[in-house]
Amino acid sequence: MIQLHDKFFKPFISEKEIQQAVQRIADKVAEDYKGQTPIFVGVLNGSFMFVADFLKAYQHPCEVSFVKLSSYQGLTSTGIVETLLDLPDNIEGRSVIILEDIIDTGRTLKELVHLFSNTNVKEFKIASLFYKSEVYNGEYAIDYFGIEIPDRFIVGYGLDYNELGRNLKEVYELNQKHMINLVLFGKPGAGKGTQAEFLKEQYNLKHISTGDLFRFNMKNNTELGQLAKSYMDKGDLVPDEVTIKMLQEDVEKNPDASGFIFDGFPRTTAQAEALDTFLATKGMKIDATIALEANDEILIQRLLERGKVSGRSDDQDEDKIRNRFDEYNQKTAPLKDFYEAQGKFHSVNGIGAIDEITMRLGKVIEEL
Ligand code: AMP
Repeated sequence: MIQLHDKFFKPFISEKEIQQAVQRIADKVAEDYKGQTPIFVGVLNGSFMFVADFLKAYQHPCEVSFVKLSSYQGLTSTGIVETLLDLPDNIEGRSVIILEDIIDTGRTLKELVHLFSNTNVKEFKIASLFYKSEVYNGEYAIDYFGIEIPDRFIVGYGLDYNELGRNLKEVYELNQKHMINLVLFGKPGAGKGTQAEFLKEQYNLKHISTGDLFRFNMKNNTELGQLAKSYMDKGDLVPDEVTIKMLQEDVEKNPDASGFIFDGFPRTTAQAEALDTFLATKGMKIDATIALEANDEILIQRLLERGKVSGRSDDQDEDKIRNRFDEYNQKTAPLKDFYEAQGKFHSVNGIGAIDEITMRLGKVIEEL
């Protein structure tokens, strides 16, 4: 995966496939123009690499020239095609073959045909390395094309995303993965785990609870579990480096997830920063942080009730619960500002029936 500006792109067409396609077009044109001297006209900027490789593959008499048109801004065709560099003036009575990097909707092509319609060329043909048959309006015949591609945004081999990526030797496509990554935020007992169970079904997300991961490791008496135990037993936070590493490993175990619910993570600013940095390396980001709000007295009652069933020692002792709240107030609460500054913080009333609260959360998610 590579990054250009704010977007991520993944490999799509290899250098070898491109070179073979260029060679195929050159061979076909050579066959059709035996004994003639055609003029190849490259359409700038995108076609410069294709033109160069095409000419290397076309070792017969020919001339070359360029026109410059432009219709893309960002990821979508604007429909505005400007002529920035006009036709060569020696084309009267000649066979002209346009060399395009890609034929998309056909708007640029229409403009090209219009340009040539005012000239007295003997013959006018179109060769395009890439061709999006699904979206092409079909107005003119494409005489030669290299590789037919689906309607995806591609970069590389002359093609750009806002001017970056033209120098890539292979073609990449936009990584279109639509993920939802949520942070469930709130004090112990706020209902993060309960709500995550519903949301993960509803939105097909992977639920990662650092508390559950630690408890799993404790139960299995792993090295990580032994390390976390002393902190968890007192209601203290486990050191950041341990928690961050564990979280990252768990995300990496799920490369095909359509999104994550982070529950109980991040709990410190260092964890939030590490999460952002880590997700960015994967082309991912947090979409929203949703806080479940409830007051301390209600939470203490909930946790003591839960402690009776779950057997969690940190839920059975009011002092430990209060210590967890202190940890939250000191270390976790500042994250509200962190996510507010990114415009990602949402607050939901966490008191009421479970399904009512799920609906409140759903409303926030639907509006993202
Ligand atoms: P929880 O199940 O989320 O209430 O977490 C239970 C305990 O696990 C916490 O009191 C901490 O000791 C530890 N823990 C869970 N998540 C984290 C985290 N993100 N950072 C540090 N410690 C954590």
